[in-house]
Amino acid sequence: MKGDMQRWKPNVASIIEHAKELHPTTEIVSRMISGEIHRTNYDEVCVRARKLASALEKDGYKKGDVLATLALNTYRHLEMYFGISGMGAVTHTLNFRLHPEQAVYIINHAEDKIIFCELPFIPILEALKDQLKTVEKYVILCDESEMPESTLENTISYEEYIKDGDEDYKWPALEDDAACALCYTSGTTGNPKGVLYSHKSNIYHATSAYAALTIDKDDCILMVVPMFHVLAWGIPYFGPMTGNKLVMPGMGMEGDSLYELIDKEGVNSTFGVPTVWMQLLAYCRENNKVLDSVKNTIIGGSALSLAMLKEFDEVHDVNVIHAWGMTEMSPLGTTNLPTKEMETMNKDEKYAIQLKQGRPVFGVELKITDDNGNDLPSDGEAYGHLMVRGPWILQKYFKAENDAVDEEGWFDTGDISSIDKEGYMTIVDRAKDVIKTGGEWISSIDLENAAVGHPEIAEACVVGVPHPKWDERPIMFVVTNSGDKLEKDNILDFLSSKVAKWWLPDEIIFLKELPHGATGKLLKFDLREEYKNLLIDK
Ligand code: ADP
Repeated sequence: MKGDMQRWKPNVASIIEHAKELHPTTEIVSRMISGEIHRTNYDEVCVRARKLASALEKDGYKKGDVLATLALNTYRHLEMYFGISGMGAVTHTLNFRLHPEQAVYIINHAEDKIIFCELPFIPILEALKDQLKTVEKYVILCDESEMPESTLENTISYEEYIKDGDEDYKWPALEDDAACALCYTSGTTGNPKGVLYSHKSNIYHATSAYAALTIDKDDCILMVVPMFHVLAWGIPYFGPMTGNKLVMPGMGMEGDSLYELIDKEGVNSTFGVPTVWMQLLAYCRENNKVLDSVKNTIIGGSALSLAMLKEFDEVHDVNVIHAWGMTEMSPLGTTNLPTKEMETMNKDEKYAIQLKQGRPVFGVELKITDDNGNDLPSDGEAYGHLMVRGPWILQKYFKAENDAVDEEGWFDTGDISSIDKEGYMTIVDRAKDVIKTGGEWISSIDLENAAVGHPEIAEACVVGVPHPKWDERPIMFVVTNSGDKLEKDNILDFLSSKVAKWWLPDEIIFLKELPHGATGKLLKFDLREEYKNLLIDK
């Protein structure tokens, strides 16, 4: 028997309409490319999103067309999230740090018809344009007066494009499970894979995410997570749902620029990956600044280290919420919220819990399995392949013939984890990064986090390389605060007090910087390749 409630055909545009209705004057603050601060509000963003949707329709674009953005976190990107998806097309967010070959592959694979492009990224497209098979038009994110000379054909400024759009545009009804947005995984090996989110999955995800993250209406959110990657963790949807003031950094991701925004705009909630916070914390340390207004910082994308957690807590009095997820999960899977029990714990006990990736948000089911697919116990000891299931987790990759899940609907995350009795999940490592040595496993993440506890070490990366006797052994790459090398024994002594002796790296190599991928994650693949003979040739 079916329920008698209304048959709901969701459209994300309803979110920006809601914000217009209930939070019309709440500010959206963007740092523009020039460095200037731009201010708008939900009323204006909604009206301009309507104008964009109507301009697209007038221009002949239809439901299901894939229209791409090569854009920064600014108010215009927010308008596109609603304007493009709301008229029934698919918002495909492109990452400007992609390798050119990958960008060409992704744009052709998605069959993008328009690319909405930020001024500084025009040269990227000029270099690729002859290889782009489906792109008909480039809309440049600027005023008419700012339009530059370009070798791109069929270009128009965004402001001119939306100028005659209908302010009273009515959003169409969409079919059930209509596609809303497209994002490709980084594809560190092989071709990137597309994840096609639906209106329904994005709305489910956003409602659960803001409940799980206990976002308040009055929170002022610094959206550091890029809108070109996994829909900025859902903030562009749950921010307007709740009525949050959004602060967007544009190109300004350096410590000084982020600090200024936080301080001047009264940011109390920040979302980002550890690499960005490293820069902000370093800036504060060097300039004796404290993040006075910030109440919560939500950190995910890579593992949070004890050193970072302590600095946020002890120096800035900021509550750190560790979170975990992935592109295929829209992205949120787990969050680690403060609990009543934590209030009476000493700091070490509390930190030990906060470093875990957290408990599943409602809607996400987790389990771990062994190499043969057998379920493992959630006892905090066993670890294995982390499997997930839920309404905002992908069923199959874009244009793939086969499902990406098993017959019971479980998706293999590629992470190795444990789950304890209270439901806290801990990532041991990516399956491909775990170091298999003499039949045992070493977590590269744990070793890296131990190393960054050293006062002279800014960043560390550990990879396993072939070893004639032990199969694989860890080697560690280190970037120091000063840029100078340290005594290797000094680092090994420091690590000895934190990890088992057989975990100690066989080699420590000092680098000026570590390779990061397009989304801020360490690129271990290249280092592993480059140093694969290091211990064999020894
Ligand atoms: P990509 O496109 O590179 O796959 P994702 O953002 O989808 O980027 O990456 C997801 C992966 O990032 C997860 O499977 C996990 O390995 C890692 N990750 C995300 N959050 C955390 C975290 N809090 N701790 C450790 N690893 C994390």
